[in-house]
Amino acid sequence: MNRREFSKQMLMVGMGVGAGSAMDTPAQGASERGNYYEEPAKKLPARKFDVVVAGAGTAGVVAALASARRGAKTALIEAKGYPGGTVTEGGTALHSFYNLWKAFDVEKRQVVRGIPHEIISRLMKVGGCTGHAEMTRGFDFDSVCTAIDTELYKLVTMQMLDEAGVFIAVNTLLTGAIMDGSRVKGVIANSRSGREAIYARSFVDCTAYGDLAAYAGAKYTEPNDYACCNSVGIGNVNIDKYHDFIKANGGPSQLAFGIRSGQPDKIVRVQGPLGAEFAAEAGKIGMSSVTTTVHDNYLMFIKCNYKVPGSVINRDDMARAELEVRKRMAKAVELFRKYVPGCEKAFMARTSPTLCIRRGRFIKCDYDISHEDVIEGRHFDDDVMAYGFHDSAPRYQVKDGGTYGIPYKALRVAGIENLLVAGMMITSDHRAHMSTRNTVSCMGQGQAAGTAAALCAAKNCGTRELSYSHLRQALENDGVYFES
Ligand SMILES: Cc1cc2nc3c(=O)[nH]c(=O)nc-3n(C[C@H](O)[C@H](O)[C@H](O)COP(=O)(O)OP(=O)(O)OC[C@H]3O[C@@H](n4cnc5c(N)ncnc54)[C@H](O)[C@@H]3O)c2cc1C
Repeated sequence: MNRREFSKQMLMVGMGVGAGSAMDTPAQGASERGNYYEEPAKKLPARKFDVVVAGAGTAGVVAALASARRGAKTALIEAKGYPGGTVTEGGTALHSFYNLWKAFDVEKRQVVRGIPHEIISRLMKVGGCTGHAEMTRGFDFDSVCTAIDTELYKLVTMQMLDEAGVFIAVNTLLTGAIMDGSRVKGVIANSRSGREAIYARSFVDCTAYGDLAAYAGAKYTEPNDYACCNSVGIGNVNIDKYHDFIKANGGPSQLAFGIRSGQPDKIVRVQGPLGAEFAAEAGKIGMSSVTTTVHDNYLMFIKCNYKVPGSVINRDDMARAELEVRKRMAKAVELFRKYVPGCEKAFMARTSPTLCIRRGRFIKCDYDISHEDVIEGRHFDDDVMAYGFHDSAPRYQVKDGGTYGIPYKALRVAGIENLLVAGMMITSDHRAHMSTRNTVSCMGQGQAAGTAAALCAAKNCGTRELSYSHLRQALENDGVYFES
């Protein structure tokens, strides 16, 4: 039995005894020597909510807002000290609120609206977004570049959660599920205030890793089919000089003009060649130099990718990866200083607190969106949103610049009565996942899952007993756009 299989088995054992926890999974070394500590039974303080949303990231923020605004008493549990997740840490621009209208010369449609759109509007008011800046080059990839100020995103979304009356448990790690057969009764949360049980009627797992679903005994796989990544924000750069250098090298391949430091018609996204020497060295550290910016003198997301040899779920594999990627980020800034005019005095202005993953666990749901569903632009009789972006475009695009639907059944965790998922955990096919995992898709899924969870809690029913027409009506009332 290899270490990963062993860890998985230990996790299942933990779950079998009730409020199991991956924290119970022995770390490397200890388990192999057969060392264990038997935890004494302990009474935990308990709280009661209607809905628990696990993970305040890209999907979770929207799920909690949707749930609380539907009147459900909602708890949001987040390991870090702020909401936002990978949207503030990994990506470059929010792909995508629009269909691929420019590439296909079809009607321009904003296909994701509702709460995700509201977040962008709130950010615009505080200078935290480029707007939906139209791509002048590379519009066969995306029609727009919607880039955010990562720090204002954390603040604005936390304010919105607070206004909606969400109980925001940040710096709190979800470490177990309390099960009653196939029904989740509650979760175990650990913080500096202690360990507690949080009961609810409906649950939404937005942890990206699928932690809650795994604790609840859902079926899952660990595809490990992407590089993980840290993105570094590089300060003290001259973007116009940077752009000129790309032009001198035959680019850019992607370009968009939008609001930067409060001024319209400024470069906010640029990608292109930075010379052969730079490219050769960048290749060695998995660096991709596509970047966006909301501010002058700042390249917001320079990505350093690293394929973790073991598992992104394994603490010790990830510890080694964190070190490797930190070295790569320092090297990336060095390369900019050495080779790119306008970057001579660049420095590392921002990194993510932890490595970002593109996929952790794939959680088995009642439906698994296929690549054909995506590129053929299929819609379902239980659509909860429409989406039109594919991260492998122009190689793969949604047919005719249209959209496909994400069905409600794709968010219902198979075999569990009252648990939904939203975000990068759905869709097993890597090519289809290259679409469904993108930020704006995750946000839309979050609105659907949060709304459904609140409706189920109000009716005291399981996720499969909720009538689709009821859910659809609620989503439409809350501004969600449908194409069929
Ligand atoms: C390097 C990189 C670049 C990308 N580039 C783009 C891009 O340019 N455009 C785009 O649209 N998409 C991009 N993506 C994809 C996109 O950003 C992600 O797929 C998406 O943001 C995932 O959202 P999520 O809600 O599933 O997870 P996340 O946003 O990661 O949210 C998960 C949250 O759960 C919390 N959490 C996890 N476990 C626990 C626990 N046990 N207890 C409590 N809290 C927990 C985490 O701290 C986190 O806040 C990129 C992804 C990466 C990694």
